[in-house]
Amino acid sequence: MESASETIKRIFGGKSNSVGSEMAEVSSRYEALDHVRFPKPAETRYIAVANQKGGVGKTTTAVNIAAALAYAHSKILVIDMDPQGNASTALGVKHNGGELSTYDVLEGRKGIAEVKQPSPAFKTLEVVPASIDLSGAELEVADMQNRNNLLKDALSDFIESSKTHYDYVIIDCPPSLGLLVINAMCAVNEVLIPIQAEYYALEGLGQLIQTIGLVQKHYNPSLLVSTMLVTMFDRRTLLSKEIYDKVREHYPHIVLETTIPRTVKISEAPSFAKSVIEYDPHGMGAVAYREAALEIARRSPAVLKTIQARKQRSN
Ligand code: ADP
Ligand code: MG
Repeated sequence: MESASETIKRIFGGKSNSVGSEMAEVSSRYEALDHVRFPKPAETRYIAVANQKGGVGKTTTAVNIAAALAYAHSKILVIDMDPQGNASTALGVKHNGGELSTYDVLEGRKGIAEVKQPSPAFKTLEVVPASIDLSGAELEVADMQNRNNLLKDALSDFIESSKTHYDYVIIDCPPSLGLLVINAMCAVNEVLIPIQAEYYALEGLGQLIQTIGLVQKHYNPSLLVSTMLVTMFDRRTLLSKEIYDKVREHYPHIVLETTIPRTVKISEAPSFAKSVIEYDPHGMGAVAYREAALEIARRSPAVLKTIQARKQRSN
C-alpha cells in the first residue's frame, strides 16, 4: 500500500517548493526516524547548553533535544540552571518558588535525588527545576571556596549513589557568563552552543569560546565544545544559509548538519507546558529536533573518545 508521504507526494508533486511538497518531505523524514535506532552512549554524556546571548534557542534546544532522546528511550536528567525556569515550564514540572529546586542543590540543602521531578510526558526523563530564587545564589555563594564546583559536587554525589544509569545529563544555562554558567561548565564535559541564524549570530561567539577556554584551562581540562546547532533557520532566506555556511567553515566538525527551522509550533509548545516532540510530533520542528538528537547520539563514540583523551592528558 502507498504510504501517507507517498500519497502526499503524488497529490502535490515532488519538486515544487509548495506547502504540499514540504509536508511530504517532513512526513517521510518522520517515518524514517521511527525506523532508526538511537544508539546509547557507552558512558553518561554531560552537556551544558550555553550561549551568553539571550533568545538564541538555548532553552528550546535543551528541552527538545532532551525530549527527543527520551522519546528514543534514553534516560535523561535535565538540570534547569536559569532562574527564569523556562526549561522547567516547557517540560511541565512545577517550579513556583515553593518547590525544591536547583537553588537548594547549589546551596547544599538538598541532594539532586530529593529535588528532581519526573516529566509528565516521558517515562525516562527527569527534571531538576529552577525558580527565580536561584538568581540569589550567585551572590550567596560568591565567597565560598568551592563556589565553581557546587553543581559538579552535587551531580557526582547523585550519579555515584543513583541506582539508575543516565545516558545524558543536559543543563540549560542562563544567558550570562556568571557563576551559574561556570558551575554548569565545571559539571559537564561538553558544551552545546545553539546559534541563531541571524545577522549578528557570530558576534559574541568568540567571547563565549574564550570563556569556555578559560574554564577549561583553570577548572575543567576535559571541557569540550562538542556541538553547535543552528536554530531558527529560515530556508527561504539566503541569510540563514550564509550563516550556516559560515559556522560550518569555522567549526566543520562541531556544527550539526541538521538545522532547526523557525516554526510557530516550536514557540507555542511551552505555553502548553510541552516539548514540541509531544505538542506537535509530526511537525517540522519536532522532526528537526529528533534528527539533531540522532546526530548527537551517533557522535557519542567520537565525542567520548576525545573527552577521554583530554582527561588522560591532564592527569
Ligand atoms: P534562550 O533560552 O537562548 O533565551 P529560547 O529557547 O527561550 O532562547 O528561545 C527564545 C524565543 O524564541 C522563545 O520565545 C522561543 O519560543 C522562540 N524560539 C526558539 N526556537 C524557535 C524556533 N525554532 N522557531 C520559533 N521560535 C523559536
Ligand atoms: Mg533560556
